[in-house]
Amino acid sequence: MTNTLTIAGTPVPVFPGKILPHWIEAAHAKGYDIAGRIIDRLHLALRCHLCGEIIQARLFTLMSAQPLCSACIKSGWITTAKSVGLVFIDQCPENRHYAWYEAPCGHTLRRQFELIKRVAAGETGIRCEICHHATEEAEADARGWELVGADPNGDPNYRQYKHIACDHKQRIARTNLQTDRFSCGGCGELWPAAPSNLYVMSFTLPNSRELVKLGYSNNPLGRLRNQLVRNKDLPCEILRTVPVDTGQQAISLEKALHAKLREAHPATVVDSQVYSGLINVKTEIYEASLTAIILDELDAIATNLASTAS
Ligand SMILES: [Zn+2]
Ligand SMILES: [Zn+2]
Ligand SMILES: [Zn+2]
Repeated sequence: MTNTLTIAGTPVPVFPGKILPHWIEAAHAKGYDIAGRIIDRLHLALRCHLCGEIIQARLFTLMSAQPLCSACIKSGWITTAKSVGLVFIDQCPENRHYAWYEAPCGHTLRRQFELIKRVAAGETGIRCEICHHATEEAEADARGWELVGADPNGDPNYRQYKHIACDHKQRIARTNLQTDRFSCGGCGELWPAAPSNLYVMSFTLPNSRELVKLGYSNNPLGRLRNQLVRNKDLPCEILRTVPVDTGQQAISLEKALHAKLREAHPATVVDSQVYSGLINVKTEIYEASLTAIILDELDAIATNLASTAS
């Protein structure tokens, strides 16, 4: 005869004594068999009819309430999580109403059990903030803007964005960003669906150093006159513009070309210290020695655009 019972992997001492018939009856009615008396005269070991696990319960609980099978509860959590595409990891140690789940994207989410139940019932959805943030960053980046953060005015439909080309920050409704219905209040750049241009500009600094800038704008001349140059006497000119159907396309062509130039000619990338206070940008400026190469690249792009348009 054994004098311990194993409950959740732990041996628990058996308490000698009779098991009374009305206990057995109460246990049956509540979904359990009595596996034995344990610890002292106040405790019982109950075997769950549903899952076969043995749980520890107080005699008082059995007689006055419904003892809960922790194994069944946990398997319920696992099943509910699975039904909404999550993997149950563990109950949160700080708050028993919360648990950790692994999302399909691999990120770990902390959510209330109640919320997961509501998701399973189709009442609400669940999303990963990490992935969602990355999505919003990418959609802004594709339009030449940077996601700065939440709307300073607190409207959940708006975000604060920064125009990468001119550093101007403004709030834009996310749907307007997504559907390209916005323009920049800083440099006047139109919405990304509007026609645009790639351009090359040259600048001569007061110390005679010559620089060249590659960029995109729906209005290169306005950008040069009103935005880029701080001192109106700084010699500068537009060397070439290539019209592009949309700002969107201009941004992606411009980005690809910058990447190519930086990769092939890293020594010609000019540090922003050199022109800070003179030209209103932080990047995209090269030594003038790169001018011929940039113009050739723009020619190639123009030819390519013309051939795909016809
Ligand atoms: Zn159970
Ligand atoms: Zn994620
Ligand atoms: Zn701007």
